[in-house]
Amino acid sequence: MRFLILTLLCVFAFALSDASFPGGAAIAPLGAFGETAPLAFYRDRRVRVDKLPNGEWAAIVGVSIDAKPNTVGYVSYRTIEGKTGTVSFKIGKKEYPVQRLTIDKSMEALDEKTLQRVAKERETIARALAEFSETFKGETQMRAPLIAPISSQFGMKRIINQTPRRPHSGTDLAAPKGTPILAPSDGVTALADNHFYCGNFVLLNHGEGLFTLYCHLDRGAVTTGREVKTGDTIGYVGATGRVTGAHLHWSAALNGAWFDPLLLVSGDDLAKLKPKPQSPQK
Ligand SMILES: [Zn+2]
Repeated sequence: MRFLILTLLCVFAFALSDASFPGGAAIAPLGAFGETAPLAFYRDRRVRVDKLPNGEWAAIVGVSIDAKPNTVGYVSYRTIEGKTGTVSFKIGKKEYPVQRLTIDKSMEALDEKTLQRVAKERETIARALAEFSETFKGETQMRAPLIAPISSQFGMKRIINQTPRRPHSGTDLAAPKGTPILAPSDGVTALADNHFYCGNFVLLNHGEGLFTLYCHLDRGAVTTGREVKTGDTIGYVGATGRVTGAHLHWSAALNGAWFDPLLLVSGDDLAKLKPKPQSPQK
């Protein structure tokens, strides 16, 4: 069993091996320190540690979409014997598509009460993502939560009325209202609630700082704290929150940094998620 777990962890590391760029995840080899994984930290946050096939331990670090390209990140570690150190990893560059939108000014402006609500909800999500569960529940290569065309890519830079907005923090899948959303991996429901932008949503905690998020649900099918198994229905596609039509906004986070969930999807399912040849959704 232990061998199987290690193999799966390595697969996870390999799936991400070319993803050290803003909005991706980096592998930072730490060294060979025996059987017990060292603790590793990036920007003062605990990060996931996996054993590589060569026996070395490596930190698996979510790299924020806001990280500067062509720079270096630093991971500090502490072994069970008390040895400490710091390693660096390169953050490469990735070009994301740009989408320019012109919308009615009145649609864009949020009143003070809504702004306060949005700020509070951001904090709630940040607090949930800061949880570091020691046990990894997930499978390292995930299934897609549903099969549908990709209508908006992760990282899309949006310029609304000439003002740059935050890049798209997830991948949108254009499934019709009511389509069941299946847990792509085992986990625990960290949050199931309704937020202004996200609408009805479910946030799954897969352990060791890895989370996946499902937004704009017609309704959720799980409550906060519930354990889920791969393939369980966690909700249904809808158009709640700030959207123009029904779709699933799917995102993943490692150590609090959103990255493209497609980096986790197994090859079989990935091949079925084709881009949609139409204008992207919000
Ligand atoms: Zn989206």
